Amino acid sequence: MAEAQRIDGKAVAARIVDGVKAGVAKLTGETGVVPGLAVVIVGEDPASQVYVGSKAKMASECGFKSIKHELPAETSEETLLKVVRDLNEDPEVHGILVQLPLPEHVDEAKVIQTIDPDKDVDGFHLINVGRLSTGDTAAAFVPCTPAGSMLLIREVLGDDLSGKNAVIVGRSNIVGKPMAQLLLAANATVTIAHSRTKDLAGVCRGADILVAAVGRPEMLTGDYVKDGAVVVDVGINRIEAPEKGLKEDGTPKTRLVGDVNYAEAAAKAAAITPVPGGVGPMTIAMLMANTLRSACRAAGTTPPA
Ligand code: NDP
Repeated sequence: MAEAQRIDGKAVAARIVDGVKAGVAKLTGETGVVPGLAVVIVGEDPASQVYVGSKAKMASECGFKSIKHELPAETSEETLLKVVRDLNEDPEVHGILVQLPLPEHVDEAKVIQTIDPDKDVDGFHLINVGRLSTGDTAAAFVPCTPAGSMLLIREVLGDDLSGKNAVIVGRSNIVGKPMAQLLLAANATVTIAHSRTKDLAGVCRGADILVAAVGRPEMLTGDYVKDGAVVVDVGINRIEAPEKGLKEDGTPKTRLVGDVNYAEAAAKAAAITPVPGGVGPMTIAMLMANTLRSACRAAGTTPPA
């Protein structure tokens, strides 16, 4: 079989971001409204700092008002809830994102459920989860990673997935479950697999569309992939790469890999997303799109498609 098409998430994300920039110019030109995205981070987790930094930078590039609340790790739950409530009330803020994970003394669910569902651009509030699971994808804010993954699938297969078998490996609330809802809404026949699934490789080999959201480096080998499948690798795993040499502290350099063994899967699939450069860039792009949508709703204008 010929080598699979490499689905270029960077290029698709860049197209979405260009659309957002144009949408912001139109919205601001017509109504004076500038979309505002507030990002809240508690503590100094290095990975979270990087994610928040990239989100804030992209928000500024899109022409948003970008607000960053950096709170110390010992911030009380009550203080954090107050920050969220104040942002709910702020008319210049259209999107609120609380970077997870939160410190252990804070009830994550309580914080998320305090965000105004109409500013919940991460799509984690129960109201948005409910909208998505009742098929109301027009009203829901859809979590950014599955929303971005879905657009990459559409790039290859179009909008209607009737007759396609989709298997998602992973059942988290932020990736696996919303991904299943989106595929179902597009008429795919959906299976959600997880750590208790029997004969996982066999289940995956039944997939015309295989989505890996496991968090285990290169776990899905070629044996999991049906000939001609479309494979979406959500996983982001940092592994040691001794072939790249040593860091200053004498430990091996590292590299990013997905949950799929790319070379083996690409030998069988029709199309596959790489890591990095696949789903990752889509996540931030979808956050920008959700924030613009929220601002358009607040201004009473029609958001761009
Ligand atoms: P979670 O840890 O919340 O969920 C992992 C899922 O994988 C669980 O449902 C678990 O099953 C399942 N699983 C774990 N081990 C196995 C196994 N051996 N066989 C079958 N299923 C297994 O992870 P997330 O959903 O948050 O993230 C998944 C991956 O996606 C991670 O690599 C993460 O870094 C990445 N990610 C990437 C993003 C992006 O922007 N590209 C954004 C968010 C996440 P069970 O429920 O039974 O325990």
